[in-house]
Amino acid sequence: MARYTGPVCKLCRREGGKLFLKGQKCYTEKCPVERRAYPPGQHGPAQARRRKQSEYAVQLREKQKVKRMYGLHEKQFRNLFESAAGVPGVTGDNLVIALESRLDNVVFRMGFAASRSAARQLVRHRHVEVNGHVVDVPSYEVAVGDEIAVRPKSKENLSVVSSLEARTRPTLLEWLALDEKSRVGRMVRKPMRSDIPLAAQEQLIVELYSK
Ligand code: SF4
Repeated sequence: MARYTGPVCKLCRREGGKLFLKGQKCYTEKCPVERRAYPPGQHGPAQARRRKQSEYAVQLREKQKVKRMYGLHEKQFRNLFESAAGVPGVTGDNLVIALESRLDNVVFRMGFAASRSAARQLVRHRHVEVNGHVVDVPSYEVAVGDEIAVRPKSKENLSVVSSLEARTRPTLLEWLALDEKSRVGRMVRKPMRSDIPLAAQEQLIVELYSK
């Protein structure tokens, strides 16, 4: 399945909230979610007026929201869920932790890219190293102690520089450390659900996939 290349603001409007898919621009530009608070399309306003959603619809929208925030396809998301369900602990927490541990997300959290999609591109274009080796797989699972760095020849890459400079809101979380000057970061410990600023009810996703 091809990656979605349409207007990302539509995805936010469909989910009825800001997913911050454009990075810093979401804080500086006028946000369509605020200007048109109803789903996109001909029947959008009518959908917004409809009061009650079925239980299934609520679960589905929650899953779609999280999936879109992290820029995953259904199959990738489902696979991640299956592996989260197979390890001890709360499945919902495991799922969120697995999403946060993806290399593209860690690159975004460190501020090397303005959004997760920009981080994904940075990884795919071989600008990122893990423990001294180029890794171009956005889904790579970062482990505790892994050193994530922008490659030496890409340290002055314009998008990296502007992303670090434009960081008006801190995206770096407690479980990550960063030396901004050398563009090197590290996962200092495994994230816990409480460390992750994700406004989602992952339990709904677990219920949806457990049907
Ligand atoms: Fe979503 Fe950002 Fe567009 Fe607002 S500006 S709709 S938060 S992508």
